[in-house]
Amino acid sequence: KEATIKTVNPATNEVVKSFKEMTEQVIEAAIFGADKAYQNWKKTSFDERANLLHKVASLMRKKKDTLAKLITLEMGKLLKESQGEIDLSADILDYYADHGETFLADKVLDPEYGEAIIRNSPIGVLLGVMPWNFPFYQVARFAAPNIMVGNTILLKHASNVPQCAAAIEKLFKEAEAPEGLYTNLFITGKHASALVSDKRIKGVSLTGSEEAGASLAEAAGKNLKKSVLELGGSDAFIVLEDADMDKTVEWAVVGRMNNTGQCCVASKRFIVVEAVADEFLKKFKEKLSTLKVGDPMDENTQLGPLSSEEAAVHIEDQVKRSVASGAKILLGGKRIDRKGAYMEATILTDIIPGVPAYYEELFGPVASFYRVKDEAAAIELANDSPFGLGGSIFTNDIERGKKVADQIDTGMVFINHPTWTKEDLPFGGTKRSGYGRELSELGIQEFVNKKLIRVS
Ligand code: NDP
Repeated sequence: KEATIKTVNPATNEVVKSFKEMTEQVIEAAIFGADKAYQNWKKTSFDERANLLHKVASLMRKKKDTLAKLITLEMGKLLKESQGEIDLSADILDYYADHGETFLADKVLDPEYGEAIIRNSPIGVLLGVMPWNFPFYQVARFAAPNIMVGNTILLKHASNVPQCAAAIEKLFKEAEAPEGLYTNLFITGKHASALVSDKRIKGVSLTGSEEAGASLAEAAGKNLKKSVLELGGSDAFIVLEDADMDKTVEWAVVGRMNNTGQCCVASKRFIVVEAVADEFLKKFKEKLSTLKVGDPMDENTQLGPLSSEEAAVHIEDQVKRSVASGAKILLGGKRIDRKGAYMEATILTDIIPGVPAYYEELFGPVASFYRVKDEAAAIELANDSPFGLGGSIFTNDIERGKKVADQIDTGMVFINHPTWTKEDLPFGGTKRSGYGRELSELGIQEFVNKKLIRVS
């Protein structure tokens, strides 16, 4: 049987390395080990937990070049983006090491009589199911806060980034993490959902597609376990008539093309008011049409491959179906004629309800352009989406931007910047984009037992 867990270089579509799925015995030993590790880890001091995270962070930085190359090899993002991802991941580890104790401090209540405190206690072994689009960052933002809490981690990574998955586990080993604190599982997605019923696993967190999220959350619901889901998005990028157009267009390119468009919070729907629509579209097209296509390992490349051949086939199909139902292609629209999972930078216009691009998430370098009458129409269109992850508003009037932000039905709204992520900003969505929050102080509160201790 053909291996499902493997490295395929998307710049060439060649299989580089295959891995075997773990046997039932190995998986049982992993869960046993994670539970055993928890029995000790829950008793450790914050200092001990922080020291470990700082060590892993410093190893990450030391090996930045090797790790970044692994990311680019397995999922094709530009090498400098991979390097940035390693830096951000190390920053997340340090951030929770530095602030975890404060975030988790006892909360002293003021009851009518006697004493009461809320103590943040760990809950046990957690299962993380993570995607390929940011193989280190996605893991860092789940594992770091929870290790600080005192929980232990089983990690099922996407099947196309096995070498990144193994490298993360190795970093913990090299940092002398206790055996069982962080364990990588080479298993399929379905198998991950099946594990949720194991009584030693106390909570699950998934970043990925709606289907995978629904499958894992269904298992969590059936087994009465807490879950956090970070799913797709179709962020609006709203341009109002008073925006600084040159800066806005620069951000539009970054917002759509970063990570070859494969971010849950990529700017996907460009909603521009009539007064500046032509100017925006002309400048946006100019910039997208000059991106230099090439090998993602080459520092001059500006447009690399998608993460896999399947991803490229899927987005080309979305474009074709959209055109068949009335959308127009202003730029691109086809696969690039070279080996690998390449797709042209594309702009679609004339998208109305019924066109697939209207409601489907476009996970790649394809921008949807919408011309609207005014601010009110922009807000209405932005909210007409099954997703509710991020979004951005471009205007020179910050107060106006904040008022518009208030009316956008998503978990995050950025003014004069595409939706972005930093260790100290909460991240997460509403509607079909999932629930729960990661990063910042909020991200450490998801898998804790907020235990009341009462003295009468
Ligand atoms: P998936 O959702 O299939 O993959 C994400 C993770 O979920 C992987 O580890 C995957 O494992 C796992 N998984 C898959 N099926 C199940 C299941 N039934 N139960 C539990 N875990 C499961 O994403 P794809 O790679 O297929 O990408 C498809 C689409 O998902 C994208 O086009 C995009 O729309 C969205 N996506 C969103 C991301 C985000 O950042 N929010 C990231 C990635 C994808 P395995 O690899 O073994 O299948």
